[in-house]
Amino acid sequence: MDPQSKKSWAEIDLKALAANYQALVRRLQVPTEILAVVKANAYGHGAVPVARCLAGQGCRFFGVAQLSEALELRRGKLRGRILVLSHLDLKEIPLLFRYRLTPVLDRIEMVRAISREARRRGGGNFPIHLKVDTGMGRLGLIPAEIPRFLRDFRCLENLRMEGIMTHLSEATDPVFTRFQRQEFQKAVRLFLDAGYRPLYTHSSNSAAVILRRTGGDNLVRAGLALYGAYPEYRLAKSGLTLKPVLTWKTRIQQIKKIPPGYRVGYGKMFLNRSARAVAVLPMGYADGYLRSLSNRAEVLVRGQRAPVIGSVCMDLTMVEVGRIPLVKAGDEVTLLGRDGRGEIRAEEMAAWAGTIPYEIFTSISGRVPRVYSG
Ligand SMILES: *Cc1c(COP(=O)(O)O)cnc(C)c1O
Repeated sequence: MDPQSKKSWAEIDLKALAANYQALVRRLQVPTEILAVVKANAYGHGAVPVARCLAGQGCRFFGVAQLSEALELRRGKLRGRILVLSHLDLKEIPLLFRYRLTPVLDRIEMVRAISREARRRGGGNFPIHLKVDTGMGRLGLIPAEIPRFLRDFRCLENLRMEGIMTHLSEATDPVFTRFQRQEFQKAVRLFLDAGYRPLYTHSSNSAAVILRRTGGDNLVRAGLALYGAYPEYRLAKSGLTLKPVLTWKTRIQQIKKIPPGYRVGYGKMFLNRSARAVAVLPMGYADGYLRSLSNRAEVLVRGQRAPVIGSVCMDLTMVEVGRIPLVKAGDEVTLLGRDGRGEIRAEEMAAWAGTIPYEIFTSISGRVPRVYSG
């Protein structure tokens, strides 16, 4: 697509993605491997190009939230191991077999149904991962349920317990993380005592990897860090340099001068006190530029910061550009990313919007074409 015709677009730097992956690899001890979390369209970066790039870097494990995301990867010719982390219906079970997908399970009914399907398909040892809840209160067996689960599981055939996992609720809190890890170790011990030898145990997310708090696991699940953002901004000081992968740009549609006393945006949100130049940008909250950025965010124009004024509209956003020399309609505007010496990171945008970088990335809508380089 001709960039001139795009209202806004996201440039995805696959070299930066590869560099982040290798930085995480160096952060881990051999033989710990990385499962690249590419759910939600790789946090808005494009699941297939991201996963293929990482596979080229040696990544063998991928994680998605739901089956449709796994199918998209297979259709994109991705061959690695794909874990379905969050959602699975009974009626989706045949697709697990057909596309060689690995379910993460915590309910015996689902495990039983998979065992039956494996038998129907002539046996074998279908790999599954089990999830233990150690303090997230979300998915997973709570520790007290494990003995009962094991009694039921023992009767099932054609399954191989390949992995056991848990999920940390706040990896930056060393005390609670230690507690979760102890609960996890106890749970793993129950499985070992029952005679199971899972090849993989995994509990770490990006924050745990960045903080080198990965416990005794041999697989970690990293999402956000691959995309070059820190789960919390203070982790930027942890000695691991991550390169933002996504740059979000638009172009000034028109510039107008407004007199003092003039207002800008729905709800008269911005009151203009002096004569100003307003640049109208052809994107808004329907593109994923959050409404909570109204009157707070900044963008980069000719390498300099310019404030968003007034409310972000569905398809339009206004910024003040009076102090930027030579600014004109058609100029590129960087919403997220680098321009000259200026840089706006997802972490900073998230702070403006009162959210987390995860939501910044996953909000960028399908209206915004992704363009790949590297
Ligand atoms: C999303 C997700 C991750 C990745 O978390 P990041 O903070 O992005 O690294 C890991 N594990 C599970 C189960 C997830 O759902």
